[in-house]
Amino acid sequence: MQLKSLQDADLKGKKVLARFDFNVPLSKTEPRTITDASRIDMAIPTIRMILEKGATKLTMISHLGRPDGKADPKYSLEPVAKYLAEKLGIDVILSESAIDNGVKNLLQLPETKIVLLENIRFLPGEEKNDSALAEKLAQYGDVYVNDAFGAAHRKHSSTYAINSFFKNRAYPGLLMKKEIDSLGALMEKPAKPFVAVIGGAKVSDKIKTIEKMLVLVDTLLIGGAMAYPFLKAKGATVGKSLCSDEDVALAKQLLMADRGGKIQLPKDHVTSLEFGGAPLPCAGTSIPDDQMGLDIGPLTIKSYSDHLKTAKTIFWNGPMGLFENKDFAKGTMSIAHTIAETKAFSVVGGGDSVAAVQQSGEAEKFSHVSSGGGASLEFIERGQLPGVEALKFGV
Ligand code: AMP
Repeated sequence: MQLKSLQDADLKGKKVLARFDFNVPLSKTEPRTITDASRIDMAIPTIRMILEKGATKLTMISHLGRPDGKADPKYSLEPVAKYLAEKLGIDVILSESAIDNGVKNLLQLPETKIVLLENIRFLPGEEKNDSALAEKLAQYGDVYVNDAFGAAHRKHSSTYAINSFFKNRAYPGLLMKKEIDSLGALMEKPAKPFVAVIGGAKVSDKIKTIEKMLVLVDTLLIGGAMAYPFLKAKGATVGKSLCSDEDVALAKQLLMADRGGKIQLPKDHVTSLEFGGAPLPCAGTSIPDDQMGLDIGPLTIKSYSDHLKTAKTIFWNGPMGLFENKDFAKGTMSIAHTIAETKAFSVVGGGDSVAAVQQSGEAEKFSHVSSGGGASLEFIERGQLPGVEALKFGV
């Protein structure tokens, strides 16, 4: 079943209740300010479309951080309300609580247009997928829109249970639709060759993604600390690099499952005597005992880039090294630049790789930069997400 489209929704004269993912990073010190507003910016087209389609009221739901079911001013959505009001040029009223009685009164007033409910995770019912909470929220809208892709892998009250109160009146937001269409395209008849780049810290974190990719792709390029357990499993030495026994065992299994020889591993490295110390070139696959691998080397960059240049579909998750330190960022940045230059359908998903793509300044040149780390990987692993299934079929 296809997802419905917000473009087709009749919102004229309707009250709209919409779930967004405004879970933005905030500064650690007071006054708390937003350090990266990308998640809010990505929701703006949906908000604008709801208003342009003639909705009379828009009530917005979001979570921020992990307040564990208790009100905590540290996680207030106040900075988000302020940012939205500036960006939209309209008043955005922040409610005291998501199920504050005042919200209903507020929505009766003709001058009220946009209400942002205070952090939904201040209420214990949210993460318990509480139906009573969902029912209370449902009173704020005639139509429900879910644009919170980043929370779609959670079965929560405002992403899951709530759908039962909006049978045939639930729509995906524009961002949600783009995420599902783009990630879905990777899994349904991707143009070949399909090349995936998987990096990051640990094999165990991404084992299911790697297993799924081995089925879908022609070539799987492995980088980052993720590569060392594979190299060790093949008999190379990895010195002091990040490499757990558990990951070596998993890497062995994956190498055995890779009958088509799709997995490619680094041929050389950039190492250091200590974490974040001076960079050292390291030719060859083995790393000396007194060194740790912190980036892929020039031969590997060349070989991985050659693979990527032939691709018609590319998926990337996880940096190629300790990219936060510029001495070890070259592998990750080179991969970002190479993908940006290809004409392939390219998708990047996952928190750190998205940050790396943004750091490279090439984000615009990717076909899709996913807004959801956990959600994008879970969608690839399972081919579905609870929040999306509930939108399609109700609960
Ligand atoms: P992940 O969240 O699994 O994608 O892991 C991303 C993190 O892995 C980033 O903070 C990188 O700095 C880190 N990382 C990648 N390669 C290495 C490496 N060779 N050694 C240590 N950390 C690494």
